[in-house]
Amino acid sequence: MYLSMVVPCFNEERGLQRLHDALVAALSGRVRDYEVILVDDGSTDRTLREARRLAALNPRFRYVSLSRNFGKEAAMLCGLRHARGRRVALLDADLQHPPQLLRRMLALLDSGYDQVVARRSRVGERRCRSALSKMYYWACGRLVDVRLQDGVGDFRVLSRRAVEAVLSLPEYHRFSKGLFAWIGFDTAYVWFRNVPRVGGGSKWTLGKLVNYGIDGLTSFNSKPLRLAIYLGVLVAVLAGAYVLFVVANTIVDGVEVPGYATLLAGVVGLGGVQLLFLGVLGEYLGKSYFEAKRRPHYLVKESSPELHPQARERRLHPAAELAS
Ligand code: UDP
Ligand code: MG
Repeated sequence: MYLSMVVPCFNEERGLQRLHDALVAALSGRVRDYEVILVDDGSTDRTLREARRLAALNPRFRYVSLSRNFGKEAAMLCGLRHARGRRVALLDADLQHPPQLLRRMLALLDSGYDQVVARRSRVGERRCRSALSKMYYWACGRLVDVRLQDGVGDFRVLSRRAVEAVLSLPEYHRFSKGLFAWIGFDTAYVWFRNVPRVGGGSKWTLGKLVNYGIDGLTSFNSKPLRLAIYLGVLVAVLAGAYVLFVVANTIVDGVEVPGYATLLAGVVGLGGVQLLFLGVLGEYLGKSYFEAKRRPHYLVKESSPELHPQARERRLHPAAELAS
């Protein structure tokens, strides 16, 4: 099989037909042999029904439906496991990842790259949002070992060995932007313009974005914990110097009582820093807790009948897959 396309879908009933038409239009006559795997991530609308209908209509379309909403990362993992192609493309169901770009991306992949990544320009986005993203990626550049890039999302085409590399990472907490960067291999970039969503609403709320950001910062190393050590040392040194100053002052000028503001600032400031790093510590502890449970990333409720036997095997025996 030349190409598999993995599409995570969560409440996308309105967009699936359009996605089908766009994919068929973009690929027919150009890519001989392809499959589209729609992963229904526990949608609460009629997405599954739509996926069944499309699979019945077009033999190139298959679907897997998860038992509940496990999140996009889990849905993508599921799709990657089921993909049979020698190349695998990941794209969103809402047509924010224009399928017309696939041809160029595939040509680049065939010229010897293992990953071809579509980078979204921030043209037309609100200023404060772009500025926030810039700041975030700057912080990531300092704190995270792998290189995360602005505008890079999950829209990408991977070679078979890149897919196997991603599948070989067993972690429960999957921050795919980082995982794709972590596996390395030669990567090429293709720019595209930001496209507004077709149908439905984005599933990202501000809270979810912030959590995603924290996940990114804490998923790859323990540098934030290091930061606590450095900051602790700095505060201890400053506090020592201040105490010396106060003692010297008392010896020279006698006892003085003011200092209420300093005291309060010290207590409140240190309290804040302590809580912050307690949070950072908790974040790592929580991650370890979930990793230690070794639960499967998702459960499958239903899938189209002709799915990959190996994937079915993996689904039934997740332990075998961890061992392999
Ligand atoms: N998605 C998913 N599970 C979720 C949330 C989203 O499979 O829990 C899918 C969604 O159907 C879409 C893609 O992930 O195909 C991107 O989601 P969305 O468009 O909401 O994100 P945005 O484009 O705003 O980053
Ligand atoms: Mg979207």
